Amino acid sequence: MNKLTVKDLDLKGKKVLIRVDFNVPLDDKLNITDDRRITEAVATIDYVLKQGAAKVILMSHLGRPEGQVVENQRLAPVGKRLEKLLSQKVLCTKDCVGPEVKKAIELSQEKVILLENLRFHKAETKNDPEFAKQLASLADVFVNDAFGTSHRAHASTHGVTQYLKSAAGFLLEKEINYLGKAIDNPARPFVIILGGAKVSDKIALIENMLPKVNAIIIGGGMAYTFLKSQGKEIGTSLLEADKVSVAKDLLEKAQKANVKIELSRDFVVVKDFKNPAELKIVKDIEPGWSGVDIGPETRKAFKAVLSTAKTIVWNGPVGVFEVKEYSDGTRELAEYVSSLKGVTSIVGGGDTAAAVAKFNCEAGMTHISTGGGASLELLEGKVLPGIAALTDKK
Ligand code: AMP
Repeated sequence: MNKLTVKDLDLKGKKVLIRVDFNVPLDDKLNITDDRRITEAVATIDYVLKQGAAKVILMSHLGRPEGQVVENQRLAPVGKRLEKLLSQKVLCTKDCVGPEVKKAIELSQEKVILLENLRFHKAETKNDPEFAKQLASLADVFVNDAFGTSHRAHASTHGVTQYLKSAAGFLLEKEINYLGKAIDNPARPFVIILGGAKVSDKIALIENMLPKVNAIIIGGGMAYTFLKSQGKEIGTSLLEADKVSVAKDLLEKAQKANVKIELSRDFVVVKDFKNPAELKIVKDIEPGWSGVDIGPETRKAFKAVLSTAKTIVWNGPVGVFEVKEYSDGTRELAEYVSSLKGVTSIVGGGDTAAAVAKFNCEAGMTHISTGGGASLELLEGKVLPGIAALTDKK
């Protein structure tokens, strides 16, 4: 990476502003139900403290308060969890900018400070320069460790970099290294697995990855638009009618580029989504039936392609994995990919990461991205503004 990383910074005696992703799920009683995003931020925080930083000032958003103070989206529960993980006190400020926050930081006995939810201010998502300047004025240097929001040009990911020397934290660096290497210099054969609900979300990705991959496996809801483009009956399965010709075009492009496309060939179908008891496995979908998972023959064919791969990137579940009766395809695939040895397996964030976690297959994967949207945009070949804005290495 040609950007400064936290290791390139002289941190001794410095006030260090770190953008972290503490957007964790909370239950009704404000208990954190999954603290992975906090535990993953600890490496950078620990390192900065060990380097003798005067203060570590953490900032994050939580939920979508859309510019208003929402009581149950305060970061206080995160602060408590962080205290336990760091074994030291954390000062949670009442706001993220303003003279009172500045004063609280100056007077603080605590080395670690957690600013209140950035998105209590509309200025954050608007990338307002004045707001960014106020955030930057709290510190001497800036570290971005929030990969999951780096595809957004917000004040805390982009604006602040205009005022402070800016470097990548360990988590951000890890994401760029894994995903970047897979995209630019993968061990081959390189196979991507695509699933999820919509073709429209994956068109740019397929266009960008076609010249780089050896095979693309397509399952999930998006497969039916491709099957329709081949003239197949898909019953009432998910269809984006306005994308049928795009799908046809992509299949032709893949053929020209010598990229193998492996599409679902048998299906778990139901008549009524809410009635899993009537499900059956078919090769040809009849009118009135809807595909909710890949069938056993497809699972076998997908595994055969994957068995030859040296790099696998997976984005999108291959069935409605949230419903037990429709989850076997995604579970089997997760178990298979995680069992492969000598393979770099990268899981895009979001639903795919949730599926892999649900089926207890996390340990066998090489890398699970913390950013669904951000990893998708990297695979689409887009420049992520929060990364592009970091200071270049000399
Ligand atoms: P996405 O947000 O595009 O990654 O889509 C993820 C969602 O796609 C998950 O919630 C799955 O339940 C859904 N999904 C996967 N396969 C199917 C299918 N065959 N029919 C309907 N939804 C599906």
